[in-house]
Amino acid sequence: MKKRILTGDRPTGRLHLGHYIGSLKSRVELQDEYDEFILIADVQALTTHFDRPELIHQSIYDVAMDNLSVGLDPEKVTVIQQSMIPAIAELTIFYSMLVTVPQLSHNPTIKTEAKNYGYKEMTYGFLGYPVSQTADITFCNADLVPVGDDQVPHIEMARKIVRKFNDLYGTSITEPEYKLSSVGRLSGLDGNQKMGKSMGNALYLSDTPETVWEKVRNGVTDTNRVSVKIPGNPDVCAVYKYHKAFAPDEAENISSMCKNASIGCVACKKKLAETLNNLLDPIRERRSYYESHLDEVKEIINSGTEKANKIGNENIKAIKEKMHVAL
Ligand code: ATP
Ligand code: MG
Repeated sequence: MKKRILTGDRPTGRLHLGHYIGSLKSRVELQDEYDEFILIADVQALTTHFDRPELIHQSIYDVAMDNLSVGLDPEKVTVIQQSMIPAIAELTIFYSMLVTVPQLSHNPTIKTEAKNYGYKEMTYGFLGYPVSQTADITFCNADLVPVGDDQVPHIEMARKIVRKFNDLYGTSITEPEYKLSSVGRLSGLDGNQKMGKSMGNALYLSDTPETVWEKVRNGVTDTNRVSVKIPGNPDVCAVYKYHKAFAPDEAENISSMCKNASIGCVACKKKLAETLNNLLDPIRERRSYYESHLDEVKEIINSGTEKANKIGNENIKAIKEKMHVAL
């Protein structure tokens, strides 16, 4: 039996190269070895975007297409729409009894995110999203959750909740493990620490070659290098970070050409745009197929959700029996 992975995205927009490097790439690599469940977390999207239902609706399709376009095979992975899984909603309520408000409000990721969103006060739903995430992971007894470092506190909390729940009710819900991503955050071409949707510096997987060039062309380089003749410093260049991330074999060479002024910034950016477009071309091709077959995308989501519900309904029934709520 293959181990089960639970992973996913919030449908709050299209996915970008940061998502690709940070998680999509490894999803593709792991799809044979693991039973992969990919959750489109539309309820979690509501915790910050409850006032933008049209965006969430469109993004459910976009996120599904982004995942399929990078090479996830719908015959191998299970794509799930979170709001359509009653077991997740029920488990969220049961788990919420085992978590205190300070445990949530002291969670470092919650604190950082609340600050970034500018929340003076948090809604009950936002504060509780790690509880709902625990339900996402455990309704199907997932073994493993691939995460970035921001998600580690949530998985630690999930493990505690599950342990307590199993102790109390004699259930045997799987205590999930996390697999920490070895790649750090992808920075922005604008020199920002992070590429992010809301930072206005995202390079989307669905961007056209022209848009990619436009974004790369505006990328920040060594500002001291005012002329091609002056040697550059790749260590302070946002564009160079991308060469290292997306063309690691060529990066060394580009670094020395920059340092001895044998390549200018424009030529260097052209190289990067070419690297990125080579990566994105097959992704664009698959996306264009799915964009003209939206019914197929919907069917992939619906059938994945149905499969997950069979598992979730069975599990929640057994859990309720153990909890003595079943008569
Ligand atoms: P927003 O700006 O609205 O927060 P975002 O672009 O940061 O959006 P999220 O939906 O917050 O996207 O990201 C979900 C997950 O994707 C993160 O937990 C992280 O693991 C991964 N991720 C996002 N941006 C990057 C990045 N630049 N580099 C690596 N991983 C990323
Ligand atoms: Mg974010």
